[in-house]
Amino acid sequence: MSQAIIAAQAGGPEVLQLKETATPEPGDGQLLVKVAATGVNFIETYQRGGIYPVQFPFTPGSEAAGEVVATGAGVEGYSAGDRVATAEGKACYAEYIVVDAAKALPVPDGITDQVAAAIPLQGMTAHYLINSTFKVQAGQTVLTHAGAGGVGLLLTQLLKARGARVITTVSTEEKETLARKAGADEVLGYEGLVSNVHELTGGVGVDVVFDGVGKATFDDSLASLRKRGTMVLFGGASGPVPEFDLQRLNAAGSLYVTRPKLADYLLDADERKWRSSELFDAVLSGGLTVDVGAAYPLADAKQAHTDLQARKTTGKVLLIP
Ligand code: NDP
Repeated sequence: MSQAIIAAQAGGPEVLQLKETATPEPGDGQLLVKVAATGVNFIETYQRGGIYPVQFPFTPGSEAAGEVVATGAGVEGYSAGDRVATAEGKACYAEYIVVDAAKALPVPDGITDQVAAAIPLQGMTAHYLINSTFKVQAGQTVLTHAGAGGVGLLLTQLLKARGARVITTVSTEEKETLARKAGADEVLGYEGLVSNVHELTGGVGVDVVFDGVGKATFDDSLASLRKRGTMVLFGGASGPVPEFDLQRLNAAGSLYVTRPKLADYLLDADERKWRSSELFDAVLSGGLTVDVGAAYPLADAKQAHTDLQARKTTGKVLLIP
């Protein structure tokens, strides 16, 4: 037996209860991993709240890092004692998880457990957004929202390393300081965004917006784009964007809109290796800093969700079993 967070039904953060449960067993091609740290991600608040359908009782979590303690039949390339992480796990709010060996990321020496748990989901998201959804070029101007958030801080650093100009939004002065430290060129509040962006871009607008805030920012994001600019809506921290009339893209200057998700940008082993190794290498070489804003005991998953949804967190939020 071991401990895991189990939600008996959909609801507020209080449904996240620490319970004693059977330790999972690795099936064919799977690793049993003793979790050192679990990554908390916004999607788990949608799942817990019943906005994204999942089956209850439910243990959230798709991101974690830890040590392999056993391997299932047919596993090659991993053995007990290896350090691994994943962005594609299940039920990671737990002391032990099983991970498909094909979806495990070997953790290089020199990367701490907390950084290993913080990089996979938000890091590979930032990576696919700027390399594959919209390949950002040096000299382009980019607008990103929630610049002190988990994805936001990584996105800004990767964009600056690319040579882009980064305009970002935040809601507090503390968050502004963090966004500037990550390299953002311009840090704005959400009020008056469109006129401020147009002023900063000589009336032209930005080449691309990466918008994970959704409902509250979508219209301003579109209005901040240059002609033929691209709107990448990758999340809805403020709520889902309502139905959308495509004709608006024409009227606003022949714009593009896309709504990507990480799973579609991790299609095979090569893609997984490309994204994760570039991120781990960037951390090891000092080119990318991972900011763990809060690490809660696993039992306090409820508090982690409360704080994330109340906009109280910055950077990566972790749970420690
Ligand atoms: P963050 O750490 O960025 O937290 C969310 C931030 O959004 C808040 O800190 C807050 O920053 C901002 N925000 C603005 N309005 C609201 C609101 N009404 N309620 C809550 N937060 C608000 O979270 P993550 O980095 O984990 O995720 C960012 C977004 O990216 C989420 O929407 C998530 O679902 C999405 N995502 C999408 C993926 C994909 O592949 N499509 C993969 C990973 C994440 P501030 O106070 O500064 O405004």
